[in-house]
Amino acid sequence: MNVKEIQSKTILSASKVYNYVINPYVGCQHACHYCYARFIKRFSGHKEPWGMFVDIKINAADLLRVEVNKKKCARVWISGLCDPYQPLEAKYKLSRKCLEILAYNNWPVTIQTRSSLVLRDMDILKGANDFEVGLTITTADDEIRKLFEPNAPPIKERLSTLDELHRSGIKTYAMIAPILPGAETLVNALEGKVDYVIVDRMNYHYADWIYTKYRLEDKLSDDFFQRTGRELAYVCKKLNIACNLTF
Ligand code: SF4
Repeated sequence: MNVKEIQSKTILSASKVYNYVINPYVGCQHACHYCYARFIKRFSGHKEPWGMFVDIKINAADLLRVEVNKKKCARVWISGLCDPYQPLEAKYKLSRKCLEILAYNNWPVTIQTRSSLVLRDMDILKGANDFEVGLTITTADDEIRKLFEPNAPPIKERLSTLDELHRSGIKTYAMIAPILPGAETLVNALEGKVDYVIVDRMNYHYADWIYTKYRLEDKLSDDFFQRTGRELAYVCKKLNIACNLTF
């Protein structure tokens, strides 16, 4: 693993998903096989396989302190191209420092992670005015998770993280994206743990080889995504959970 501290030029970037995005790290230790963020290898000059490098934007908090005073206050997404709570965050605390600044300045924030490390920052989350936390959960089957996301935390851990956050009064959502085999039964496990759910299909081809190797090709078809999307939305409705089916 090539870990390097770097000085970034900026930290609060414009985003098409929310108003801004903060990526405290370049690269992601979770190394999900389907991850689209690997395209940044082209721009960062990294030749290592995806997941084998992380650049630490060591000046992230210093930049943010200046940028929140220069830019118009609007929702910040943390993160888009890395997991803000990948294991290195335990040591570097860049996401924590950025969240502290955003909470102090009353900026709305959407956190998206696969890790229970977010619970470390409960003090900030509880004190903030308009923060929400999403856990990405792509399947209910941990054997499938191991095939596609071998370095990311187990499904059970993500569900209990949502549970703890929600019970602490923090707004939570589950990002069921991309729908992986075994996602069909996920919503029941989310009952009482989330305010809403976002669902999206697999939109990239990086992990096609896994579907071929494990004879899962039928779970990569339009028919599967449409059927599973409808099923997830139906169960959400039954359980009174708002569902945003994005395709
Ligand atoms: S956690 Fe997110 S950013 Fe990290 S490898 Fe997985 S999909 Fe990519």
